[in-house]
Amino acid sequence: MAKIEVDPERCKGCLLCAEFCPKKIIKASDTLNSKGYYPAMQIEPEKCIGCAICAKMCPDVAISVFK
Ligand code: SF4
Ligand code: SF4
Repeated sequence: MAKIEVDPERCKGCLLCAEFCPKKIIKASDTLNSKGYYPAMQIEPEKCIGCAICAKMCPDVAISVFK
């Protein structure tokens, strides 16, 4: 099991991370950040394999992966 953390203030809600996550466990949160975007969040962290594809895809370097 691994865990990701999204920095909600860096995230612009493009959801590229969600699109490329092989486990499909990232979705938009329902809380706006200060720039008016819905930042990504991880759901079902028990399914995360720590591949870090999400972090690599993020154009804003908003994701950290912890294994
Ligand atoms: S790819 Fe980065 S900026 Fe885009 S939604 Fe995911 S965390 Fe946010
Ligand atoms: S580390 Fe891999 S499995 Fe985990 S949320 Fe990111 S893309 Fe998905």
